[in-house]
Amino acid sequence: MNAEILAIGSELLLGETIDTNSAYLAQQLAAIGINLFRKSVVGDNEERIAAAISEALGRADLLICTGGLGPTVDDVTREAVARALQRPLIFHQHLLDQIEARFRAFGRPMPQSNRRQAHVPEGARIVENPRGTAPAFIVEDARGTVVVLPGVPSEMRYLWENAILPYLRDERGETGVILVRTLHAVGLGESVIGELLADLMTQTNPTLGISAKRAQYELRIGARANSRADAEAMIAGVEATIRERLGANLLGAERLDQTVARLLRERGKTIALHEGVAAAPLYHALSAQKDALAALRGVIIHPADIPTDDEAAQSLARTGAVAVRHQWRADVGLALQPSSVIAADGFATMCVALAHDGGVNEWRRRFDMRSEDVWDFAGTMAFDALRQYLAAL
Ligand code: ATP
Repeated sequence: MNAEILAIGSELLLGETIDTNSAYLAQQLAAIGINLFRKSVVGDNEERIAAAISEALGRADLLICTGGLGPTVDDVTREAVARALQRPLIFHQHLLDQIEARFRAFGRPMPQSNRRQAHVPEGARIVENPRGTAPAFIVEDARGTVVVLPGVPSEMRYLWENAILPYLRDERGETGVILVRTLHAVGLGESVIGELLADLMTQTNPTLGISAKRAQYELRIGARANSRADAEAMIAGVEATIRERLGANLLGAERLDQTVARLLRERGKTIALHEGVAAAPLYHALSAQKDALAALRGVIIHPADIPTDDEAAQSLARTGAVAVRHQWRADVGLALQPSSVIAADGFATMCVALAHDGGVNEWRRRFDMRSEDVWDFAGTMAFDALRQYLAAL
């Protein structure tokens, strides 16, 4: 079964309300193994909602709509579903009785406008809503099934868990599972990773998606199976292939800062930093992890040196790493020093040095200085160097 989600409400379209319902429903669909192919948002306009429903039914077997079931004139989901499925809206006295009873319970008379909520498209299965006035409904049509839920998140979740999930499981036999495992990788260009894993990324089950964040990569493996154990086995197979191809560039479930923090702790090493730039990217990356801060002995931020060429920058990094290590009697000294020479293409060299009891290791790479995230990229390079040193101990 393939599903789509349609969130209805002009406040969602305008960005005034964040569409959390769709995120919740997406997670819920994955948990029962239903493929989700699209999420859409449409404003409170009957014609456009009806068109969105028709289009979705042209692609999906199951469409889940939320929102627009209220009593006001701009709540037009009911009418739009009826229009899209070409069914009249039918009045149900028992629904009106329930809505009236709810108002009585609050000690208020029911406004006439709530009468609209006692209508559902002909042939719809009514899902009563003990948490609100708007009943939900399910329409099974030749073109697909439409589930219509209220927009209030707590009501929507309640009806999903207590009525729609049991309907999909027990009556539609949807009992599978989709599992997702996220791995992290570092140290390779995005296109290199993309080429190494291209075949895995074009598979449909299991799937592999990659996103890049500041020179670090998130690899999401998704598997759909009849049982959790089967899905886990499929994911383990893909993970093994990725590990084989990326080697030491694959970190595993931990991010780079978490890996460095763990290695510092496990190896019992202390560290001191030399920052050749006021943004202090090394300290920022390190302080993201409490564990790693415990290993920190000192930081020098020294942006005043202006190295006139790449060799001078490398030399400053080297002496900086050695000096901070010595000053604070730390096990390792890590330094980052950008060269001040920015080429016509906007790139400049960034130098990293790592001082330890066996000497000094050095790296350098060119970075686009116009990028907002340039210091994060540089920090990633330095931390990856530190990770590899610690991992080899
Ligand atoms: P009711 O009849 O109970 O009012 P409804 O179906 O008419 O429900 P809406 O009027 O569309 O629901 O929205 C009710 C509330 O729920 C609003 O505060 C709205 O911001 C919020 N809401 C609606 N849709 C979503 C969504 N997709 N994600 C998060 N909040 C939502």
